[in-house]
Parts: sequence; C-alpha cells; structure tokens
Amino acid sequence: MRAAVLKSPGAIEVDRAYPEPPMDPGDLKLQVEYTGICGSDLHIFTVQPPMMKLPAVLGHEFSARVVEVGPDARGFETGDRAVGLIYPSCGRCEYCVQGDFTLCDLRVVSIDARNGSFAEYITVPARQLFLVPPGTPADEAALIEPASVAVHAIRRSRLSVGERVVVFGGGPLGLLIMKLAQLGGADRVVLVEPAAGRRKLAEQYGADLALDPNEEIHGQIMDATDGRGADVAFEVAGNGRAFAAAGKAVRKTGRMVVVAVYEGRDVPYNPNRFVGDEIDLIHSFWANATDFRRAVNLVSSRKLDVRPLITGRVTLEQMQSAMETLVADRGSHSKVLVSCS
Ligand SMILES: [Zn+2]
Ligand SMILES: [Zn+2]
Repeated sequence: MRAAVLKSPGAIEVDRAYPEPPMDPGDLKLQVEYTGICGSDLHIFTVQPPMMKLPAVLGHEFSARVVEVGPDARGFETGDRAVGLIYPSCGRCEYCVQGDFTLCDLRVVSIDARNGSFAEYITVPARQLFLVPPGTPADEAALIEPASVAVHAIRRSRLSVGERVVVFGGGPLGLLIMKLAQLGGADRVVLVEPAAGRRKLAEQYGADLALDPNEEIHGQIMDATDGRGADVAFEVAGNGRAFAAAGKAVRKTGRMVVVAVYEGRDVPYNPNRFVGDEIDLIHSFWANATDFRRAVNLVSSRKLDVRPLITGRVTLEQMQSAMETLVADRGSHSKVLVSCS
C-alpha cells in the first residue's frame, strides 16, 4: 500500500510498497479517505520526541471506509464510514472498560505498534471506532477527531449557559473549543492568538473578540467581562506566557482548563493566585467514547460546521512540502487535509 513515511526528522517519503498493517480478530480494516495534519504531527516532524521511533507513519485525524470486518468485530459492515481513535488500547484495563481509551494503562507501550493514517490502509479495534452517518462528507468527517478533543475540553470545563470564556490559541482546536463554547451557551467568547491570519479566521468563525497577545490584552479581557474576568479560560497555546495570561484572565472561583501539551517547557505556576481566588485548574487530555459519539453527531448535523476550518488539501505525495509550509508559516493556515487514497 501507499504510505507517507517519516524517515528522519523533517523528511517524509511516499513508500508505494509499505506493508499493510496486521489485523486482529476484533479489528476493522479501513481505507483512509482524509487525514488532517495535527500540531502534534508537525511537532514530531520537526523535533522527534524520544518515545517516537523512526521510520514511522504518522496521522490520527482520519475519516475512512470499512473494507474488512474482523470475525470478532461488531457493529460495522463493509462500506461504512468510520472515525475514531487510531492508537490501540488494551480494552481490558479499568479506563478502557469505561470508554476512556486514551487513558489506557498500556497507551505508551502501544503508541507505535501500527501505522498511522497518512497511509492507504489502517487497522483499528472496532470498539474504538464510531459510525459516521451516510451523507456526512469525508472531508468534514476527518475533523471529528479534533472536534471530539474540543468536546472533551468543554465537558471538563463544566461550562454553563451565560458564562464568559477566553480561549488562548487560535489553531483548529482553539477554534473548535470557541465554537462549542458558543453552542454551549457562552455569553461571550474572546480568542487570543498571535497570528493575524488566524485571528481573522476566528472572527469569521464567530469569535466575539480576537486579541493579539503581543499587545496589552488583560485590560481588554477585563472590559469584555465587566471587570470580573472570564468564568472559564482554555489554554490551548502550549506556552508559558499563555499559561500565565490565562491564569490572570480567570475570575475568582472560575476554571482554567489546560488542553495544550507542553513539550518540556516550564510554565510560571503561581499557586497563591489559584488558592487565594479559589480557581479550579483542570486538565483535559484527548477524548473518550462519549466525546467521539457527540462529535460525530455535532459534525454530521453541521451544528458544529467545520468547513471554514479546512484551509488546504494535499495528496500523500505533497505531504513533505505541506509540512514544510506549515512549519514555516503555521499562522496562515488552519486544518490541512491529506487525501490518502
Ligand atoms: Zn490531533
Ligand atoms: Zn486499557
């Protein structure tokens, strides 16, 4: 099969004879339609974290068609469209049993066991897959995985109707969180993002206010929240400055939700602020089965319209140059989809 193989940091090559992934009895074999390029893929492309062994096929934000159903796999037929969690989980630990497969006790061990979805085919346990209603376009379905991460963050935040929200980071995930906060009844959502192109997209996508963190933002956040601060701040940027600004932007008894991954970067944590003002510091990691099911429904019904986030489409053969473009100028793009079949 064809697969875009990351051979060494910064170097992707299309292998036309890459071995097809192994299939267990509970698996589905899927033909990948689209895979979104994620910030984490870009990070591995440039840095290669120690746990990642190369060569490897990345990609986890997929939409795909079922081409083979394992003898023990339930709930799917050939031709169905599916999305889900690509990394195998054990299916037996206490987290897997309750659908929290991204918290599986074995997750680190299993992370590079099979190829990712920048490839023609993947195999995935059926219990980690979710049926997409017919009629949902494949390109939009590829946004269900990041949408499920946003659903998880909103659920973790305990957002309620009429609350004020600030989101730090205007990449695809930040914008999905912004949009879902509005769907969830937020009174006002402020987005903070340094790249002008991403701020403009955020405004078109419905941000009540889009601020540049290189300017003075705290006063503007206070003005937008009647001088109280936000009920909820989401930190999706992944840098210490944004972490500090988010902590400052939250009102007394508010919640700060950290969704970003910090690659070894220290953050300025001031416990006295969080203790003295009784701020809940919440962390949100990936998505569970409930989040995926909700994201399937929201994207399929277009109550969460992901089309404005798709700013580019490339083939597997064009991935090397697409990754280089994104590394050089991420701020001019949002979600870039790779057509994989
Ligand atoms: Zn991702
Ligand atoms: Zn498990």
